[in-house]
Amino acid sequence: MERPVGLERACRGGEAPDVGEVIVPGERIMQRLDELAAEIAAAYPGGELTLLAVMNGALFFLADLARRLPMRVELTTVRVRSYRGREVRPGGAEIVGELCDDLSGREVLIVDDILDTGSTLDLVAEAVASQRPASCRVCVLLRKGRPDARPARADFVGFDIPDRFVVGYGLDLDGWGRNLTDIVALTEDAGDRK
Ligand code: 5GP
Ligand code: MG
Repeated sequence: MERPVGLERACRGGEAPDVGEVIVPGERIMQRLDELAAEIAAAYPGGELTLLAVMNGALFFLADLARRLPMRVELTTVRVRSYRGREVRPGGAEIVGELCDDLSGREVLIVDDILDTGSTLDLVAEAVASQRPASCRVCVLLRKGRPDARPARADFVGFDIPDRFVVGYGLDLDGWGRNLTDIVALTEDAGDRK
């Protein structure tokens, strides 16, 4: 099996869950970000954008995407809690605190790491809509192929991936795996092990 890039670094000083296969190699992410940035730039000819990142998972994606966008960008964040501890099944999503900026009249692009059930993005989109932005679209790095997925919900998608629990490139399991370079799937029982 291919060895995930960054595994030794991510494991040093602690226990790691069982890592399965590499789903998206880091270098493929970088290539796709160039394409995504071009798609986004073409969709905003007015050339001004407010990126609203869902923390913490979207942090690396936001940083790499924002640096590729050929336009004026403002950054703002929202924190959503949707998984607790090592639980790998979706729970109810909730916004932690407030949306930090006034989004009225702005072109808002919500940036998140992964679209799974869609409850996180529904919640954030609703909170943005209540501030009457000029527009609100959604960009996700990953979209899971769930049977009940509604694909129209994300306007920009990096990769469609299988319905597996993944970590790396900003995504974690209970704090583990965020700083992997590749995006990797965990083995089936990884979330249950303490
Ligand atoms: P949704 O609300 O669409 O069901 O889930 C979206 C959120 O759940 C994501 O922002 C992410 O925080 C978390 N999530 C969903 N699937 C995964 C996954 O496979 N790995 C990790 N690390 N987080 C996930
Ligand atoms: Mg998230």
